Amino acid sequence: MKKEFAVIGLGRFGGSICRTLAQEGMEVLAIDINEDRVHEFSNIVSHAVVADTTDESVLKGLGIRNFDHVIVAIGDNIQSSILTTLILKELGVGKITVKAQNDYHEKVLLKIGADHVVHPERDMGKRIANNMISNNVLDYLELSDEHSIVELMASSKMYGKTLIDLDIRAKYGCNIVAIKRSNDIIVSPLAMEAIKEGDILIVIGADMNIDRLEKSLGDKV
Ligand code: ADP
Repeated sequence: MKKEFAVIGLGRFGGSICRTLAQEGMEVLAIDINEDRVHEFSNIVSHAVVADTTDESVLKGLGIRNFDHVIVAIGDNIQSSILTTLILKELGVGKITVKAQNDYHEKVLLKIGADHVVHPERDMGKRIANNMISNNVLDYLELSDEHSIVELMASSKMYGKTLIDLDIRAKYGCNIVAIKRSNDIIVSPLAMEAIKEGDILIVIGADMNIDRLEKSLGDKV
């Protein structure tokens, strides 16, 4: 069975989520208090409705509790975002993801039972800054406050060396989980695999250790 999603708030963030879900063939109910925004999405998603989601009876009427996943993407109006999340939780929605404006907002959302809180601006800012700092970091995914997965461009110090030669796990406490080479991807590379120029290493580990690896083996910025 196809998963059913509801997206509340059709600004840049909620709108982008709606478009992507719809492109992937998902059933999406798009909701906004603003008629123009709803109109914009009426041809993109399965259903689009004008509603104020801080009104419990409205959400009940939409049968919101039958949706598998509800995304609350109400922007600046923190009060409406919190109240909407609280009602969704009380109505028993299975999974609730909410966009937070700041750390206090996030704290409250987690306290009232949001399953997942996202900070798109903060997270994307971190990601871009990390890519800017290093010549070798191509992309970066935060797993927790202290752990990440990064895509590292193999540096000249690594060319021709095998994973045993580099001994990354013992020296830096990180694991190379895959190597991207041209159009191929080598998952769980063997210890005798030699690194080639142009390889992209997918590394998992503690941020501190990834940083040490990068500083020691990376090309200087
Ligand atoms: P972004 O920063 O992602 O662009 P916006 O602040 O532009 O976010 O968009 C948030 C959307 O949430 C707006 O379209 C707004 O009309 C909608 N919204 C705000 N309050 C409510 C509410 N109580 N019920 C439904 N939608 C709401």
